[in-house]
Amino acid sequence: MTMTAVAGRDLDRCALVAECDCGLCAPTWARRRGKSRRFTEPVTLMMAIELEPSAARWVVMVREHRFALGELLAAADEFLAVTTVDDPERPSVGLALVMFSGELAAALGAQEFVLEPLLDALRLVCLETVAAAMSTAAGCLVKMGEMVELAGAMASVLSGVLEP
Ligand SMILES: [Zn+2]
Repeated sequence: MTMTAVAGRDLDRCALVAECDCGLCAPTWARRRGKSRRFTEPVTLMMAIELEPSAARWVVMVREHRFALGELLAAADEFLAVTTVDDPERPSVGLALVMFSGELAAALGAQEFVLEPLLDALRLVCLETVAAAMSTAAGCLVKMGEMVELAGAMASVLSGVLEP
């Protein structure tokens, strides 16, 4: 049934695309521009769902997003295990997890799209993955609070210097 899959793909308005294959960057949903065959315009999962008329396809998209989040989470867990708390890459990995999880959480909670066809089992696994991703993200962002405080302190020092 490869032909069917390909034909279906051709009709898809949005697809999850990866711009980087390091494993620690989240992929993004992207839409086609005009009649282009390529998905070039980044959108969120919710925007991709809004563009998609078929409710059956929403479930597939949510499942795809969940799967990609699971892969990102596994890579982030490995990264966390082999880096120290001061690793400069940690905040960006943590933020990637937060943003990508947030898209999934937004879709699960969206009122305008009651994702009725979303099976309870899928909803549960999505929530579990989001929870696990938040835990790993917190590990990645543990130093971020200090950085934000430092940035705030620097800003107030600078404004003191700049203002007469
Ligand atoms: Zn990357």
